[in-house]
Amino acid sequence: MTTAPYNIALVGVGKIAHDQHVPSIAGNPDFELAATVSRHGSVEGIEAYTDLSEMLAKRPDIEAVALCMPPQARYRYAAEALAARRHVLLEKPPGATLSEVHDLERLAARTGCSLFATWHSRFAVSVPAAKAWLASRKVTRLAITWKEDVRRWHPGQEWIWEPGGLGVFDPGINALSILTEIHPGPLHLASADLSFPENRGTPIAASLRFADPEGAEVTAAFDWRQEGPQTWDIEVETGTGRLKLSRGGAELAIDGRTVEQAADREYAGIYRRFAELIRTGRSDVDLSPMIHVADAFTLGRRIVVEPFEF
Ligand code: NAP
Repeated sequence: MTTAPYNIALVGVGKIAHDQHVPSIAGNPDFELAATVSRHGSVEGIEAYTDLSEMLAKRPDIEAVALCMPPQARYRYAAEALAARRHVLLEKPPGATLSEVHDLERLAARTGCSLFATWHSRFAVSVPAAKAWLASRKVTRLAITWKEDVRRWHPGQEWIWEPGGLGVFDPGINALSILTEIHPGPLHLASADLSFPENRGTPIAASLRFADPEGAEVTAAFDWRQEGPQTWDIEVETGTGRLKLSRGGAELAIDGRTVEQAADREYAGIYRRFAELIRTGRSDVDLSPMIHVADAFTLGRRIVVEPFEF
């Protein structure tokens, strides 16, 4: 069994690698950032490669990789790293298709490596408390409102507008990762309206309605055209009180009274969990948020809206 600290390489060094992965690895004594693999990006003071095969061949001491490129490219890198017997952390969403992630699960099991499909929003501070509060209650209504300005959060990112980039589901899947974590029972998609800019391959807005066998009204509204205040809220009504998660899960209010709020520590939680998975020889791959997104693309009614330019 491998022991910490684990040498790790960051692959696909762009926005999220710099914003979150580099500081979170630096803050976790179980990991040592040993290399980067990126065609253009690098981290100051860290050995930089542009090719994964070369890094895997030259650095057998690197036990783990964190894959931070867009989802359309992730499978190839993950499969190669697992075949070379390295533990793999996948940024969200874990891939471009469900079947490719199933394939990675089989590969990880065969090679004895840990595969971690991360959902960073599940590590938001108030998600565990929301889950615990809802566990013993009957939900009657749940409404997700996830509205943000794509120009502010994804400036110039063309991949999110290409097939596999998910469009507004790139942030929306974060809400669905919280929903599938905190909702006490199973849900399935009942209908969806997807608004595609006429010049883009992915939606800029989506409106979803879920069927709940227990009868709750469950909806989600995602929109990338919101300027001004940004909204990442989940409001839940139950027979015995109401809950509101806001700021993407960083704040929790029960019956209108704030009971918890904290600064974002999501990626610190991700790396703690990754170390635990490696230490215990396990994988963590829950595809339920991505299943809802796939269902939305399967079932959703397509609406064409005005073109989008950055
Ligand atoms: P990004 O900055 O646009 O891309 C990250 C890096 O991936 C790029 O700098 C590029 O590095 C590499 N890359 C791009 N296209 C590639 C391709 N076709 N093949 C191989 N490498 C490629 O994206 P990001 O915002 O960091 O997002 C990456 C992932 O993290 C996404 O899945 C996203 O959903 C997730 N995420 C992002 C955020 C956020 O706030 N941005 C938050 C949470 C999660 P090189 O050109 O140097 O190879």
